[in-house]
Amino acid sequence: LIQLFVPLNLLGFVYREIRQSLIDMDYLFGLLDRDQEIADKVDAVPLVVKGGEVRFQAVDFGYDPRRQILHDLSFHVPPGKTVAIVGPSGAGKSTLSRILYRFYDITAGAVLIDGMDIRDVTQKSLRQAIGIVPQDTVLFNESIAYNIRYGRPDASDEDIRQAARFARIDGFIDQLPDGYETLVGERGLKLSGGEKQRVAIARTILKDPPILLLDEATSALDSRTEREIQEAIEQISRNRTTLVIAHRLSTVVNADEILVLDQGRIIERGAHESLLLAQGTYHAMWQRQLDGSPSDV
Ligand code: ADP
Ligand code: MG
Repeated sequence: LIQLFVPLNLLGFVYREIRQSLIDMDYLFGLLDRDQEIADKVDAVPLVVKGGEVRFQAVDFGYDPRRQILHDLSFHVPPGKTVAIVGPSGAGKSTLSRILYRFYDITAGAVLIDGMDIRDVTQKSLRQAIGIVPQDTVLFNESIAYNIRYGRPDASDEDIRQAARFARIDGFIDQLPDGYETLVGERGLKLSGGEKQRVAIARTILKDPPILLLDEATSALDSRTEREIQEAIEQISRNRTTLVIAHRLSTVVNADEILVLDQGRIIERGAHESLLLAQGTYHAMWQRQLDGSPSDV
């Protein structure tokens, strides 16, 4: 039994490490810089972001060519606006965000930012233009200051404090004995889901990207934490092009457009009120969440 136990334990460790890397895409790309599957074109140019308009044009995609995941997806996020994506687990929501970050190339159609096809620009410039607040933030085994500074390596201590204030995590940090130098991550202080998300928000504030990609946490945050995070997110998404994978009612209500994704297809779209009036899938999801069931929107 002991013989069996040790390798299994090791496997669990390896699995966790891999999963962590996958979650923090910035981190992953930083680590695997030389081994990316996706290569820049020889004549790739830096992305020049003006307004930050995002456009998906008849996009098809599958991780495996034999199994298509996204089917003929078309939508656009006008500069500074917010589009929310809702739908059941497995619908393709996270896949869509990986495509915008160009983790994968699509099989048909185009993804454009301010009219430039993302396959024609350098990946570095593309990823500089996009800030991600992932569903499950992974912190480095380093200080809180390091984890926030990751958004902009040349940030001063004062910049970091300001970002922390903005993300409403400054009060929490100030009451730690080692303050901003507190070690966090697997081997340090374990932060709660809400605290980690606030660190990710602070990091993104420092990065100050024209385009935001948010994968909201599904885990039940207490309502005060949720409200605080929501406020911080509203502030950073104001006047910034935002694509949000939404699990919370409040984000959806305020979005300029909501896309209901099911099995890789947009089955309904529109603003909150008009979708409610349509009495379709969105309306049913909304009712379910009002009834307090813990499922996604
Ligand atoms: P959602 O975020 O809406 O829950 P995903 O975009 O994560 O859905 O997944 C959509 C579909 O793609 C699912 O069927 C999932 O199994 C599949 N999928 C996701 N990631 C991968 C991957 N790396 N390789 C192969 N299939 C994947
Ligand atoms: Mg997902």
